[in-house]
Amino acid sequence: MEAAPIPTRRELAMHEMWCGADMSGEPVWHVLTPDKTSTLCGVEKQEEAARRHTTDRHCFSCMKSFQLVVESH
Ligand SMILES: [Zn+2]
Repeated sequence: MEAAPIPTRRELAMHEMWCGADMSGEPVWHVLTPDKTSTLCGVEKQEEAARRHTTDRHCFSCMKSFQLVVESH
């Protein structure tokens, strides 16, 4: 996992990535909130781990929110 342009290891410890569907149903990498129940862009995390998506796309909303979080520290 080195494709993501942003998160440092320390930030990743707090914010895990989760591969789920975006608004159009395409798989994207979201950033999870610290409690890991939803994503930074407001998508509820679903447990469909059996279906492994592979993508190199990242959720734009999550990335934006994530950067704000990082910068605020
Ligand atoms: Zn997202």
